[in-house]
Amino acid sequence: MLNELESDCQNCFGLCCVALPYGKSADFPFDKDGGDPCRNLCSTYTCAIHSQLREKGFRGCVSYECFGAGQHVSQMIYNGRDWRDNKEHAEEMFAVFPNVQQLHEMLFYLKQALHLKETQSIRVSLQNSYEETVELTLRKPEAILKVDVSAHRSKVNVLLMETSKLYRSRVNDIKKKKSRKAADFIGANLKGLNLQGEDFRGKLMIAANISNSDLKRADFIGADLRDADLRGADLTEALFLTQSQINSAIGDVHTKIPVYLERPGHWATT
Ligand code: SF4
Repeated sequence: MLNELESDCQNCFGLCCVALPYGKSADFPFDKDGGDPCRNLCSTYTCAIHSQLREKGFRGCVSYECFGAGQHVSQMIYNGRDWRDNKEHAEEMFAVFPNVQQLHEMLFYLKQALHLKETQSIRVSLQNSYEETVELTLRKPEAILKVDVSAHRSKVNVLLMETSKLYRSRVNDIKKKKSRKAADFIGANLKGLNLQGEDFRGKLMIAANISNSDLKRADFIGADLRDADLRGADLTEALFLTQSQINSAIGDVHTKIPVYLERPGHWATT
């Protein structure tokens, strides 16, 4: 059965392709307003260019992840009533979706934190936070729109930062050195380094060369890995790494990834 925090496009009304706006950039070839269906969205809610997104200039779609919010909003909150046949609910549905997406993203991280043996000391707080977040996603649309998502994220973040500290402390104690302090790593050369236990939280790592580096227990929450070179890198025990992050990066058959992620189809196979 598909994980409820993984996107299941078969059971979604293409919400990310309608509700969200995008602008002409390196990630999209033209502008689209929120609420307007993307011109590549088919009547069956599939993408007409799904296998060629990168080649056609839709790299933003490759690096987007709804964390299962699409099917939750489509099937649970709106009981399978789509926005085409229920135009009176369409606008509301498009506003609810980004809120639920953010809550599902928090659930994804909290779930990972809950499964780490290093978080035993904060397990009860993590579980409470997980259940509180789930409850927010089960509310009626009007109530979901009133959720202060930023305030909730701030509370969750305290626990995720504590998780990161606990999880990374073992290797950092062994390494006995401080994390890299650079504000960002855009285009940085981090090739072949021991980067175990590093804190890359929220860092811009666009086009960084991290090939053949050891990234076990490094925290990647919110890191921008677009076009980062991960060929030959070891990410097996990386923390808070998402499918969308590795989808946006470059890798190869030698890149080691966590078991809960899928090897992106565009990665080199030799
Ligand atoms: S290009 Fe495809 S995946 Fe991207 S927004 Fe349009 S329909 Fe959705």
